[in-house]
Amino acid sequence: MILVTGGAGYIGSHLVSALLERGEDVIVFDSLELGHMETVETLKELGNLKFVQGNLKNLDDIRGVFLVNKINAVVHFAAYSQVGESVINPQKYYYNNVYGTLNLLNAMLEFGVKKIVFSSTAAVYGEPKYTPIDENHPQNPINPYGNSKLMVERILDDYDRAYGLKSVRLRYFNACGADSKARIGEWHNPETHLIPNILKADSAKTFKMFGDDYDTKDGTCVRDYINVEDLASAHIKALEYLNNGGQTDYFNLGTNEGNSVKEVFAVCEAVKGEKIPVEICPRRAGDPAILVAENKKAKEVLCWKPCKDLNTSVKSAYEWEKVIPQ
Ligand code: UDP
Repeated sequence: MILVTGGAGYIGSHLVSALLERGEDVIVFDSLELGHMETVETLKELGNLKFVQGNLKNLDDIRGVFLVNKINAVVHFAAYSQVGESVINPQKYYYNNVYGTLNLLNAMLEFGVKKIVFSSTAAVYGEPKYTPIDENHPQNPINPYGNSKLMVERILDDYDRAYGLKSVRLRYFNACGADSKARIGEWHNPETHLIPNILKADSAKTFKMFGDDYDTKDGTCVRDYINVEDLASAHIKALEYLNNGGQTDYFNLGTNEGNSVKEVFAVCEAVKGEKIPVEICPRRAGDPAILVAENKKAKEVLCWKPCKDLNTSVKSAYEWEKVIPQ
């Protein structure tokens, strides 16, 4: 069985869907603080899924899962991921993202489970020194969220050296899009991400574009938008890699291409087939001008490649927006 922590959340649920469709037995462990029970119910229809509601901050919650299930590998998504919130409340981030992970790792070691795929982030690099960013780029996170993820990456290195626990850390750039059948998708409350915010905008709620005076092709920030189903397929490749005896390693997951906020906005307008009201606002604190992944390593070592372009992602996100439970 594969244990997926945070499997009721955005990226986690897309991996669970992909695993179930491959006939894998899956356990989702999720506190449902940010994940959704409706997502779990939808996933249950796709295959053999067990759901356990629990919190990684309680060692007994996660130990209990290992006690009664034969787990072969873990994919660990459960984490807080709001950069701005992490600056205001670092304690919440270190306690959940680092201490919670330590509890998970304790349980894994106790029950002899030695394979983990960990959700990391482009935020481990901090302010980009060059673009595209490869895995050798210096790691100087500029917020507690990025620090918490980098700390876990370092812990995972030490746990391999000391205990032989093998990990793959996947550093996501900007996840986007939804399930191609619109069964699951991005569902945050409040929503802060670009594509859902553009698609949700209407005459009552104008889309706020944060800054048009960056040193980029059109003045707006450039990001590497990677489709969530492509992210899911990278996790499957990472699990295969570990099952085949792969060594601890880390990979960027992105498309190698950047799109500006204005370009994404234009794609959203085309997909929606209407003008979307927009307001130019001041820059959002902490946004670097350009963040684009060099994805060569994941392609070469994991034999993964992204297949879905931005247009496909926005279309799927739009279909999901139409059916997202309120
Ligand atoms: N953005 C924006 N308006 C929004 C949300 C985001 O202009 O309502 C911009 C944001 O400033 C950044 C880009 O869109 O330049 C991507 O932001 P998002 O929050 O989606 O992802 P991040 O890059 O912060 O991980």
